[in-house]
Amino acid sequence: MTRVGKTDKKRLKDISAREMVDMALKARQNAYAPYSGFHVGAAVLADNQKVYTGCNMENASYGAAICAERTAIAKAVSDGARKILAVAVAGDSDGPTLPCGICRQVMGEFCGADMPLYLGNRNGDYQRFTFGELMPNPFVLKTGQNHE
Ligand SMILES: [Zn+2]
Repeated sequence: MTRVGKTDKKRLKDISAREMVDMALKARQNAYAPYSGFHVGAAVLADNQKVYTGCNMENASYGAAICAERTAIAKAVSDGARKILAVAVAGDSDGPTLPCGICRQVMGEFCGADMPLYLGNRNGDYQRFTFGELMPNPFVLKTGQNHE
């Protein structure tokens, strides 16, 4: 293993699930949710060793709303990241805040089945899942397969 690899591994280990959930809780404070009243924050660890946070952002035109997870992923991808290594979510729930189907589909574009998700509640309690548990058979499009 190269020195760079060791450094990357150490930096990854330095970011704990607890820290990621705490970052999601902090991002949740910025949620714009005047319609549902359901505030959510997310933190995404990307392959560039950065953590991106996001919150849900609702709109009077309900379909224009975006979830915290996709906000964070959009920030990561727009910053050049192409792989997600871990996701934390925390919302106004008693149990773990589970990503919606659209967010699971978006995550699947950038992660593998073994990616960990730390899904928390309003108090910061969380449970660990893998992406494969949440979405065992994601839709994938092989380039060129469906084009004539
Ligand atoms: Zn969602």
